[in-house]
Amino acid sequence: MNSNKVDILAFGAHPDDVECAAAGVLLKHIAMGKSVAIIDLTAGEMGSFGNVETRKNEAKIASEILGLKSREILGLPDGGIENNETARMLVIELIRKYQPDIVLCNALHDRHPDHANAAKLVADACFLSGLKKKETFFDGEFQGPWRPAFIYHYIQDYFLQPDFVIDITHQMDKKMESIKAYKSQFIDPNDHNPNSVLAFLDQIKNMNIIYGRPLNVKYAEGFNVSRYLGVADFYQLR
Ligand SMILES: [Zn+2]
Repeated sequence: MNSNKVDILAFGAHPDDVECAAAGVLLKHIAMGKSVAIIDLTAGEMGSFGNVETRKNEAKIASEILGLKSREILGLPDGGIENNETARMLVIELIRKYQPDIVLCNALHDRHPDHANAAKLVADACFLSGLKKKETFFDGEFQGPWRPAFIYHYIQDYFLQPDFVIDITHQMDKKMESIKAYKSQFIDPNDHNPNSVLAFLDQIKNMNIIYGRPLNVKYAEGFNVSRYLGVADFYQLR
């Protein structure tokens, strides 16, 4: 039995990407008893505010709010994420270490160029991780192949038409709490005008309101898929 195994593994290009776009869904599934880990592909060292150490501490606080089983930083270059062989092998090692059934990753198209690159990198690694001839080792031991059953791209800065949405109304307050843990990113100590921060947080809330509207729920998070999904019958949909 692999003690590292999680049900859901969420990748983000930068610390806070996952919280901004998918904290609600993660909180919902953790409450259902599912185990979740987050991989921050970079330490966020190119961010305009804060530094690696402060961002690491903030991510720790956010992780506790979410109730994660584990979180780690892969250490790819912030602002320079590339879908190359070296990066793919590093991501494959993590997929095999955590053996998730479901992988979440960045939006396929977004404002920060790292996001789309990270999305493609993680999606390709998920497929290649299923090939046994792609040999990787963890703690000196050979890792067997592992291919996650589902890959979902969360939607972050740019408004994208989602392929499906999930109701997060009851998770919304805690989601915002996890985002506010990233004080250096969203609360500028030199800016005494609180509106700049509030505007950003409002933008997240507004996106979630728009995604919830067709379902007649207050808040929802939206996701995209590369492979379309199937359900057993009409009545599984809402
Ligand atoms: Zn980001």
